Amino acid sequence: MTVAAATGGQAELTARYGQALMNTFGAPKRVFVRGEGAHLWDADGGRYLDLLAGLAVNALGHAHPQVLGAISAQLSTLGHVSNFFATPTQIALAERLAAFATVNAPGLEARVFFTNSGTEANEAGFKITRMPGRKRLIAMTGAFHGRSLGALALTANPAYREPFEPLPGEVTFVPYGDAAALAAALDDTVAAVILEPIQGENGVVEPPSGFLAAARELTAAVGALLWVDEVQTGIGRCGAWLASSDSGVTADIVTFAKGLGNGFPIGACVATGPAASLLGPGSHGTTFGGNPVAAAAGLAVIGIIERDGLLQRATEAGDRLAAQVLGLGDPGIRAVRGRGLLRGVVLAEPIAPAVAQTALDAGFVINAPRPDVLRLAPPLIVTDAQLDTFVAALPALLAQSRPEVVGGHR
Ligand SMILES: *Cc1c(COP(=O)(O)O)cnc(C)c1O
Repeated sequence: MTVAAATGGQAELTARYGQALMNTFGAPKRVFVRGEGAHLWDADGGRYLDLLAGLAVNALGHAHPQVLGAISAQLSTLGHVSNFFATPTQIALAERLAAFATVNAPGLEARVFFTNSGTEANEAGFKITRMPGRKRLIAMTGAFHGRSLGALALTANPAYREPFEPLPGEVTFVPYGDAAALAAALDDTVAAVILEPIQGENGVVEPPSGFLAAARELTAAVGALLWVDEVQTGIGRCGAWLASSDSGVTADIVTFAKGLGNGFPIGACVATGPAASLLGPGSHGTTFGGNPVAAAAGLAVIGIIERDGLLQRATEAGDRLAAQVLGLGDPGIRAVRGRGLLRGVVLAEPIAPAVAQTALDAGFVINAPRPDVLRLAPPLIVTDAQLDTFVAALPALLAQSRPEVVGGHR
């Protein structure tokens, strides 16, 4: 198979990118032309170990043959119909996601609205919260829920928000993980509380244990919805279908996306119990959401994660990775946060962007969600041996990225 667009080297392609694409992401750090398993290749032939998986997307790595088979089989059978009609694939995937969202309340009604991204899944959730007639929402400091105007209203980062204000809704931000502050902010004017089980974009930050259960109790007491954004944490990334499920809670709204399609765009908003029926005919819509090819990708991903025991594997590999990183005893490393294969390596100095660049030059794809945090979100199929190559390289990557070495260039 040929890669039609890969006609130049990285320098030429990067220049063309700069002319043809809006500059929303800065200059691309590499131009990639191929992926296989946990590896990527750039347009100059360089090979990389992908420890970011397209931002927690490629859970099964690149070019997974069974995902490819499911997508191409569906595409050659039926690629798209409008939402005036249904397909068996979307129904089957909706049933799976509904079961995931109610794992702690088996038999509870749950219904799905399909989208093409996490942002759109959150837009659907936002609309659901409007239905009971309350307009106030509570979100968390450090939260990331997407960049559309609705999702941005729930996202905390002032640099993302301020250029686009006014944003919809009356949103109050409370300190993430602070149950007392949440209790103080909640009353019967609040439609919903939205939170991430682990804040990935904020640097893989976990709340204290008991916070999700407290949020569930507090919201129930005032008749507000609890909305858990599992876009980054869900579908096995943290060792379970939902990172929130082991806290015992059942949320009223759960949103999924990133890992669900292994790179095929898909998102889903699942609502449970009475919230499942808040949107009715005409209240929301989408052209592509629920597309049978995207649904086939999602079903294949879930089936392979199950067949290959990848929930358990994510937990084991992630615990082992954290232990190995801490076992380096490097004074430049303060802690390893997160669960399963969503991990934040907390550095003693704010050199994470330089470390990510040094790592890339050494053939490892990672990123720096905060100045002092490296994020690792490798494919769930990554091997211990592959992870070990990164751990072994890490002390040198840190040493080469200190300001006195890189000449103040951070
Ligand atoms: C990435 C992310 C989103 C936005 O998803 P997109 O697919 O980029 O629109 C929303 N919530 C969380 C927690 C995310 O990590």
